[in-house]
Amino acid sequence: METKYSAPKGMKDYLYPESFEMERIYSTASEVLEIHGYKKIETPVLEKAELFYRGVGEDTDIVKKEMYSFKDKDGELLCLRPEGTAPVIRAYLENRLDGLGLPLKLYYSGPMFRRERPQAGRSREFHQVGAEAIGSDDPLLDAEVISLSCLIFEKLGLRDFKLLINSVGCSNCRHSYTGKLKKFIDGIEGDLCVDCRARKKTNPLRVLDCKRGSCMEALKDAPVIRNFLCDDCERHINKVIEALRDMEITFEENERLVRGIDYYTRTAFEFVFEGLGAKNTVSAGGRYDDLAETLGGPRTPAVGFSLGLERLMLAQRKAHASSVSSRTLDVFVATVGPDAREFAFSLLRMLRRSGISADIDYLSRSLKSQMKHADRLGAKLVVIAGGEEQEKGEVVLRELETSTQETVSVDSLPHSVKSLLSGSVCDV
Ligand SMILES: [Zn+2]
Ligand SMILES: [Zn+2]
Repeated sequence: METKYSAPKGMKDYLYPESFEMERIYSTASEVLEIHGYKKIETPVLEKAELFYRGVGEDTDIVKKEMYSFKDKDGELLCLRPEGTAPVIRAYLENRLDGLGLPLKLYYSGPMFRRERPQAGRSREFHQVGAEAIGSDDPLLDAEVISLSCLIFEKLGLRDFKLLINSVGCSNCRHSYTGKLKKFIDGIEGDLCVDCRARKKTNPLRVLDCKRGSCMEALKDAPVIRNFLCDDCERHINKVIEALRDMEITFEENERLVRGIDYYTRTAFEFVFEGLGAKNTVSAGGRYDDLAETLGGPRTPAVGFSLGLERLMLAQRKAHASSVSSRTLDVFVATVGPDAREFAFSLLRMLRRSGISADIDYLSRSLKSQMKHADRLGAKLVVIAGGEEQEKGEVVLRELETSTQETVSVDSLPHSVKSLLSGSVCDV
């Protein structure tokens, strides 16, 4: 149907059962995170744009090309949040959360916005769950944060993921590395795109995450920071690796892995799923020991990750791991004749009070079309209310999948429904 209004480009409505899958991912993630001591934080969807200029970095694609920013009526530049870490650290500093004892473990979930070119697994409004462990530089915490994604994937029935890790060093080791990288880039400058040539002057590290094929080809022999780590950074990544081995988490070291955000230091990691195309990173994160300081706070080492729900749902569809049943309503209460309506409503209330999902006809349909509607709603059972059974204090209880039915007393209805549902093969 041609309609007058449509959702903004790159944004969409999440309909059932996708909306239900999202909810399930959120609750699975919360469960895993809470077990590990993370507490939920909600930050505004709007932030001052300055936060991301400072935090994420002015030369990153996210800030330079993809932020939805606008001037508010009082002249303040605001933006829709493009990521969750800078807002959490802003909230941590603003609310003096260090008083709660360190490390402080926080998690968040909700929509993020980046004005990218829409394609599979990449939309302009996307949803994330993320966690931040703030106030410790213990490498065991890096390993714990990495393990969270593994646990969430496993709980969702997903196994075909690959963990890539690297160290991107600290400001000390980056200094000597940047010099070498600059020299290399000077030699291949002619092969780089306009953006990269500009980045070379302002932030040569960002040249490494250019997505253009020609730039990637020209940079394939560029020096990697992994070979320029200072002793502390080397020790740190080795301890993270050792901890991952102790936890029996399989990983691949990838010395080309850099994240497209300025705040990362030391550990950087990504979880990729095969078969998702170019955008196959489902979860990613790392350490960001300098971010709090960059945002005007005291030095506060921290590590975190975020997980993209849209890509995770793509991975689930690829793995057929979705367990959403097509039968989604427990009981439809069908009514025989208008006289039975009051009786039917009392049964409806009784079922719902017992925690059974139930619905009824509101369009005065015939019994035949009520049955059809029950099927369309995905009802597992139909209670037929009215007729001679009503006089005997009984109802007919029919199983839609098998078309078998029995007569049960009204008093035992919730009990009969529950025992049929628990034996039902189409149970969620
Ligand atoms: Zn270092
Ligand atoms: Zn480029």
